[in-house]
Order: sequence, then structure tokens, then C-alpha cells
Amino acid sequence: MDKFPVGVIGVGHLGSLHAKMYNDIPSVELVGVVDVDIERAKRAAKEYKTKPYINIAALQRHVKGVSITTPTITHFEVAKQAIETGVHLFIEKPITHTTSEAETLVQMAKQSNVVMQVGHIERFNPALLALESYHLRPMFIESHRLAPFNPRGTDVAVVLDLMIHDIDIILSLVKSPVQKIDANGVAVVSDNVDIANARLQFESGCVANVTASRISQKKMRKMRLFQRDAYISIDFSDGTAEVFRLVDEDEKVENLAMMLGKIDAGTQKRKIVYERPKIKKLNALKHELELFINAARDNTQPVVTGEEGLQALRVANSIMEIINKQRISF
Ligand code: NAD
Repeated sequence: MDKFPVGVIGVGHLGSLHAKMYNDIPSVELVGVVDVDIERAKRAAKEYKTKPYINIAALQRHVKGVSITTPTITHFEVAKQAIETGVHLFIEKPITHTTSEAETLVQMAKQSNVVMQVGHIERFNPALLALESYHLRPMFIESHRLAPFNPRGTDVAVVLDLMIHDIDIILSLVKSPVQKIDANGVAVVSDNVDIANARLQFESGCVANVTASRISQKKMRKMRLFQRDAYISIDFSDGTAEVFRLVDEDEKVENLAMMLGKIDAGTQKRKIVYERPKIKKLNALKHELELFINAARDNTQPVVTGEEGLQALRVANSIMEIINKQRISF
């Protein structure tokens, strides 16, 4: 099989990792990289044994797919160029800065029959993948994504930078329209909101309480799911998951770590089990890029579609509208 020719646009922090991963995927040829900072493009090209191109148009003549790893505010213009030349695109999260930009891209990609995958990398976190065999239907979700301050990413509010990871996961689990949002946030260090909390209420009755901060002393990326008969805790930093379930007394439990007791109430005898799902070792970035290449090569629907990227952005921007109204009224 011919190697799939790709390029990376924007070789800063994440773009360099994309270039590194593409070099590690045997079915891919990293044809070149491009960056507005030409010296940076040259350095990256040298490191990843590829060519630096002077502009996006020059690179796109030689590739079938690109990773767009430029700052979020530039995603729309860069992605538009890719779609217009019929190049499949992996666009880092958040899909764009504004909802209308994302709507335009989704429409354009559909009309041009171009595959667009959005970089919601936490969908590929081994801890979440390990829960695939569980029937997740949470009715209450609590999530915390806290990080120490880093000027990178402060071109957008923490809601679009960090919280959007959890919003995307929550939307993929709850599968119900958002009915109501309450939110609050504060710009503490940067000019954008650095810490935020949102309460999302879904039509299904599920409620998600989501907190994100980029001014914390310690890093934390946790999500807790509560549903009938189960409590599930996911640690995205450690890549681990824990499940506490109520099961019938005679049910065989595969990942049993501990039996926590029996419940004799009602007609059914049940037991409480504590499970540690088996975690597959994998590099989430490499895995998501491999799946993008497969989708682009076969022209099939990617795991995280442009439409899903748009839905997550819609919720994130609604949260920001609520927060901004409060900021203006202070
Ligand atoms: P960065 O600032 O380190 O790198 C961006 C690079 O793009 C720079 O080298 C810059 O010179 C270049 N650039 C800017 N405009 C350009 C243009 N028009 N054409 C070509 N190159 C251009 O930024 P980063 O931290 O790597 O973030 C890049 C994107 O990745 C952002 O959208 C960010 O939200 C996303 N990101 C995602 C994750 C994740 O977990 N999936 C993590 C970090 C960043």
C-alpha cells in the first residue's frame, strides 16, 4: 500500500508532536511542514527529516492530508484553504474560535467530500477506552480539569482551551440536548477567563458540573459519573479508571478488584463490587492520528467529526456568553 502523504501546518508545541507521531506511523509519509515562523519550520523539518515549505499552498500541492496545529484563532482561515484544495484535515481542538466559523467549515467539508477530524484527544485516553464495555448512562457528572499557569493557550478562555475536552466527552456520553446552562468564571492572571465552572442540564435530566482552571497549583483531570447501580471515576492524567457497581449476587465480574459487601434489601440479593478495568497501553495522539489517516484514506466518518467539534464549541461559547454577561455587569 502507498504511504499516505501528509503535512503539518504550525510546528509549535503540538505541531511538533504531530510531526513526530506521523514519522512513527508506517503507513504515513510526512511530506513537509509549514509555519509562519520560517526558522521554526526549518528546525522542525530538520528534526523530523522532512521539508520546510514557505507557505500552505506550496505544501498542499504535495499532500492528501494535513494537521492544523496553529493557534485556535487562525484555524478557520487555515482549514478553509485545506478544504478548498480538497485536502483532508485533522484540526486541533477547539475546532475554531467562533461557532459561525465552525458551521461554515462543517458545511464546506461536507460539500467538498473532505474528511475533517477534530483533535478531542481525551476520547482516546486509555482510561476512557477501557470503559467501552460498560453501559455508561450517567445522570450526574462531576469533572475537574485543573492546570498550573502556562501562557501558551491563553489566546482563548480556559473554557475553550481546557473545559472543552470535558464538554466533548460529556456530550458523547449523555447524547441528549443541553437544556439549560449556569456558569461563572474569572480572569485572574490573563486577559481571558482563567477559571470557570458550568452546570449543564440536559433534556434527559442529567446534570454535569464542570470545572476548569489554568491557575491551579496542582494538575488534576478527573471525571466522576453517577448512574443507576454504578459510580465510575476516570483519571485522565494517570490513565486509570475505577468502577463501583451493584450486581446480582451470582453475576461473574471480570475485572473484580474487591468485593465490598452485600445488599439484602428488596426481592433481589445483590453485591457491591469494585472493579479496575484493564487499561491498554497506547499513545493517544498517535492512535487518534492513525484513525484520522484510516478515515481519510477510506473517505469514511472519523471518530470525532467536525459536527461533534462544532457541538462542543457551541456549548463552550454559550458558557462564555453567560460568563461575559456577568463580567460586564460587574
Ligand atoms: P504554539 O503557539 O506552540 O504553536 C503554534 C504554531 O503555529 C507556531 O509555531 C506559530 O508560529 C504557527 N502559526 C501561527 N499562525 C500560523 C499560520 N497562519 N500558518 C502557519 N503557522 C502558523 O501552539 P500550540 O500550543 O501547539 O497549540 C496549537 C493548537 O493546538 C491550538 O489550537 C491549541 O488549542 C491546540 N492544542 C490542543 C491540545 C490537545 O490536548 N489536543 C493541546 C495543546 C494545544
